[in-house]
Amino acid sequence: MSNRLPLIAGNWKMNNNHLEAIALVQKLAFALDDKDYDNAEVVVLPPFTDLRSVQTLVDGDKLRIGYGAQDVSAHEKGAYTGEVSGSMLAKLDCSYVLVGHSERRELHAEDDSVVNTKAKAAFANGVVPIVCVGEGLDVRKAGNQVEHVIAQIDGSLKDITAEQAEKLVIAYEPVWAIGTGEVATPEDAQEVCSAIRTRLAELYSPEVAGAVRLLYGGSVKGDNAGSIMGKDDVDGALVGGASLKADDFVKIIRFGD
Ligand code: PEP
Repeated sequence: MSNRLPLIAGNWKMNNNHLEAIALVQKLAFALDDKDYDNAEVVVLPPFTDLRSVQTLVDGDKLRIGYGAQDVSAHEKGAYTGEVSGSMLAKLDCSYVLVGHSERRELHAEDDSVVNTKAKAAFANGVVPIVCVGEGLDVRKAGNQVEHVIAQIDGSLKDITAEQAEKLVIAYEPVWAIGTGEVATPEDAQEVCSAIRTRLAELYSPEVAGAVRLLYGGSVKGDNAGSIMGKDDVDGALVGGASLKADDFVKIIRFGD
């Protein structure tokens, strides 16, 4: 049993306007109690337009729910229409930001070098990146998932210091399992997460590797959360669809209990 506090993060994707965001966070706060927060760190990742409202609610009611964004610009400021910088996220007290989610990699052609620049932009502003990695179905069928994910880790973490790395969160999300209802087995999740941890020990040190939280993501639901997060190297979950309903998300936060 590790001493890493499990992290359950809800990636809302492009769902919920700011009023809906307030309602969902209120429902979550109503359902969760101190024991839940002692057993897991709970984080929501709403769209940018909701962040100010979520911040106001969390601060005003002193909620133990954390929040962050789904993406960050690789640039600090300037002529980058539509982008949001790390310092803007920091100003809203975001604790986390997703970088390299498979939908960004696929739909916005973000490769490991972009993911690496974004992770650095987050760290430079005191926001912890949740670095997403994961293989597509073709790679999985060929049995090359570990090599594929380790190459993504190497590229995404280039020049990230050990001091930064120990705060990192990495989400292993097999692309074939995201939003498909097709969930990896606990053994699939453990195989890749354990390989990531071994690689972190090589890149940094066993201490850093032991501190990093590794999440599994891909069709996590109340009825599969417990078995996946029960694996030694899986320290929580990145949850898409099931984070949009408070009851479903609470079940996952409680490891399916
Ligand atoms: C995700 O978007 O990161 C995700 C894991 O989605 P879902 O839980 O819906 O598969």
